[in-house]
Amino acid sequence: MRRHPLILAAVVLSLLGAGLASMREPARAQPRKLKVHISVDMEGVAGVVTADQLSPTGFEYARFREFMTREALAAVEAAKAAGATEVVVADAHGNGENLLIEHLPADVRLIRSWPRKLGMVAGIDDAVDAAIFIGYHAGTNNPVGVRAHTFSSANLARVALNGTNVTEGSWNAAIAGQFGVPVIMMSGDDAAIAEVRKVIGNVEAAETKRTLGFHSANSITPQASYELIRQRVRAAFGRLQDFKPHRVTGPVTVDVTFKNYMPAEVLAYLPMFERTDSHSVRFRAKDMAEASWMMSFIGEYRADLTP
Ligand SMILES: [Zn+2]
Repeated sequence: MRRHPLILAAVVLSLLGAGLASMREPARAQPRKLKVHISVDMEGVAGVVTADQLSPTGFEYARFREFMTREALAAVEAAKAAGATEVVVADAHGNGENLLIEHLPADVRLIRSWPRKLGMVAGIDDAVDAAIFIGYHAGTNNPVGVRAHTFSSANLARVALNGTNVTEGSWNAAIAGQFGVPVIMMSGDDAAIAEVRKVIGNVEAAETKRTLGFHSANSITPQASYELIRQRVRAAFGRLQDFKPHRVTGPVTVDVTFKNYMPAEVLAYLPMFERTDSHSVRFRAKDMAEASWMMSFIGEYRADLTP
């Protein structure tokens, strides 16, 4: 940082108690650093209701990954318009290769593919000032919510943090919280928004649809979602000081219930996993980052991993 001699003088004078000097020499408008992390899932994108939109084999996937990209882009553009100087986007759905990278501006970094130790919020660190979740969905223990699941709809029936069921939104908010990063805005269906607000408070939110069932919703259109996301991101940056990091201090206890029996049996061979019932294990981690690494291991490890 360059310091103007007059500003240095003003600092010295004000340190001596001559506050008037600093009034005569107002601080010049320095470009303030504002780094934003945007985690983008797909189930909460406007119009998404089934695997037809969510998986590369679905007949509508090609169009919906474009809608997903444009929702992410709406958040990126609104963040930059509000003063963001650096934006990291994490593709946090399915294979992690959904966002159309060529649609993102040249000054954005994109986190792609798995495995990655911080999961859906990979790329977050102490330098990030604010986190945004786009396209988020409700957790697996919620009786309502389009495609409600936590981390894996195929494999997991419950994930609890310190005894309380978590959703992807509240789990990722706790990882962000460890780095001192507040979540300021999210988009998704009404159930997803209600869950996250219950845990971390009144974040700004863009409701892309109202859930009618696991595979049905009353949705706004993609065009309407881009505008709504822009508005809510703008509103969030307008009251940044209202948002506090969601800090879950370590050590933390994580309970994982599998849909199948064998993962619990085999994980319990490892001394750090306690078998708590037929389908469940418990582990402890020193903090949220370590808990995320453990969950990433549980989700990714297979003896036939290649290369
Ligand atoms: Zn997803």
